[in-house]
Amino acid sequence: MRILITGGAGFIGSHLTDRMMAEGHRVVVMDNLVTGNYQNVAHHKDNPRFEFIHHNVSNHIHIVGELDWVIHFASPASPVDYLLLPIETLKVNSLGTHNTLGLALSKGARYFLASTSEVYGDPEIHPQPETYWGNVNPIGPRGVYDEAKRFAEAITMAYHHKHALDTRIIRIFNCYGPRLRLDDGRVVSNFIGQALANAPLTVYGEGQQTRSFQYVTDLVEGIVRLMDVDHHLPVNLGNPQEKTVLELATIIKDLVGASSEIIKKPLPVDDPRRRLPDTTKAKALINWAPSKNLIEGLQETIEWYRQAQAREAVTAKSK
Ligand code: UDP
Repeated sequence: MRILITGGAGFIGSHLTDRMMAEGHRVVVMDNLVTGNYQNVAHHKDNPRFEFIHHNVSNHIHIVGELDWVIHFASPASPVDYLLLPIETLKVNSLGTHNTLGLALSKGARYFLASTSEVYGDPEIHPQPETYWGNVNPIGPRGVYDEAKRFAEAITMAYHHKHALDTRIIRIFNCYGPRLRLDDGRVVSNFIGQALANAPLTVYGEGQQTRSFQYVTDLVEGIVRLMDVDHHLPVNLGNPQEKTVLELATIIKDLVGASSEIIKKPLPVDDPRRRLPDTTKAKALINWAPSKNLIEGLQETIEWYRQAQAREAVTAKSK
């Protein structure tokens, strides 16, 4: 197949690109590299099945040739990033989703939308099933991401109903693994970076808020399985193992073997208090459940950061 992956040079997009390349498909990665990194896909550059197009999908998209799938992952996804890029975030999930849907329709391709657990906002029910409509503050700082993704889901469903476009929607819960940018501000990358530097680990608020962390290859497996199933309503993909942020800080500090202290910083506005996916649907539909244990996944991620930092040190020395 020939597959377009928008945001394919980003953290999750690049792992999906690897998987699609490994399966023998032709992959077109489209990315404007605002939060993505070409180095995440550079290892494919000499493969004739791989193409990279530097483009912002909020603008009209022109692709020569056939496409079997349009997979829309392009968007800033870390709270720090989307607070710095609020208009870009709103545009890529509204205009960008519209453009990619139109492209899929014109090519007769199938369409896959990366949505988010953020559509549930600060949830009032726990865990969150797909039937929950969410508790989102539209005008709060996170609204630029949450509301844009809610719009993206709405327009994807509209294309499905109005144009019979074959669509998929996933709601991705917190995801971590190699290639998560060290400076992207998310909790796993922050804590690992801080622990590796023996600097204080910054827990926001009292650290009693919860998240559930899935390893990136588990998520990619869920995506691949869902592509094969005829189901158009949103599906949660996340790890049903809940941890407080304070627990995560202790785990990462211990795994790194750091002597860092754990310090408290103010809780960001509208920070969800609890988040946990109900994955009953993914289990029933695609027989999917995350298989990577948190400790093992964090160890692999820490090792990746160590190697990345060693590579950077060598490059800096040789300059
Ligand atoms: N967090 C934290 N310290 C950090 C970064 C994040 O305590 O250095 C907290 C943040 O307030 C939130 C949780 O960790 O409660 C997860 O934050 P992240 O930005 O990774 O993603 P979110 O789930 O909020 O989108």
